[in-house]
Amino acid sequence: MTASIIDGKAIAAELRARVASEVARVKRDHNLLPGLAVILVGNDPASEVYVRSKHRQTQDAGMASFEHRLPADVSQDDLLALIGNLNRDPAVHGILVQLPLPKSIQTETIINAIDPAKDVDGLHPNNAGRLAGGFAALSPCTPLGCIILTRSVHASLEGMNAIVIGRSNLVGRPLLQMLLNENATVTIAHSRSRDLPKLTAQADLVYAAVGKPQMVRGDWIKPGATVIDIGINRLRAAEGGKPRLVGDVAFQEAVKVAGAITPVPGGVGQMTVACLLVNTLRAACAIAGLANPAV
Ligand code: NDP
Repeated sequence: MTASIIDGKAIAAELRARVASEVARVKRDHNLLPGLAVILVGNDPASEVYVRSKHRQTQDAGMASFEHRLPADVSQDDLLALIGNLNRDPAVHGILVQLPLPKSIQTETIINAIDPAKDVDGLHPNNAGRLAGGFAALSPCTPLGCIILTRSVHASLEGMNAIVIGRSNLVGRPLLQMLLNENATVTIAHSRSRDLPKLTAQADLVYAAVGKPQMVRGDWIKPGATVIDIGINRLRAAEGGKPRLVGDVAFQEAVKVAGAITPVPGGVGQMTVACLLVNTLRAACAIAGLANPAV
């Protein structure tokens, strides 16, 4: 058996097109221009790439994009002052602080300073708590993308056994909550879990968010399972070659066993920015008192 490949690139493009069409509608009917502010502290090369891509895709969707670049030695107070200004700015509906931040800045203090209504990364405790309580919330973009990809294979996740490997605040924990909200039965595993292969073998849905290249092997996977690989690991180039990206799943093995699988690159990574656009549009509509957009 060979798994079908879940085309994150195509699904993300479709989602961005739906966002752009809803942005055009709220502009036309309600004179509302959704705006996203992204703050980049320092010049980490990977973060630079992500921020450029967010800027371009926000503009392509017809939204306003505001970039704030601060030096790596910016003080925490200056960063908090900028967030305060953006919280009050009526042209800004979403605020994203690109992580990781320099060590001199407390990430938790910064995230807590963002107005929860503009917290399009879904990391503020208000949003995390609302998600955990099963209430409407701005949810983190990567797990939101994982759910959309899974729903492209399964119309309903009700009663399915899911395993989430990894329990970070950014991916694993919110994904657990979203899967529960979809009525899946969820196991969450981490570095202290025992017998990961056995736990994984029971799952109809496998989510790997570990940050360890190709850790999940083909023989861990239940035949026919849907595998969503969140990992992005940069492997050093072989002599003379280019560095390459691999996921947390051994793709060449898993593709022979799974029913459906996301590739790396071209899977979850593509969805993250598309879901950021969704969250910005949703935040703008909620702040303006409009109904949830149809995305
Ligand atoms: P973190 O490092 O914050 O969390 C990793 C998790 O994996 C932890 O919960 C850790 O357990 C668990 N873990 C580590 N080793 C093992 C092991 N041997 N067995 C089982 N669990 C283990 O990572 P993130 O959640 O931020 O990211 C995970 C991966 O997803 C990374 O590759 C990252 O690059 C990628 N990513 C991709 C995104 C995308 O857009 N596609 C967005 C965000 C992340 P413990 O808690 O016990 O330490």
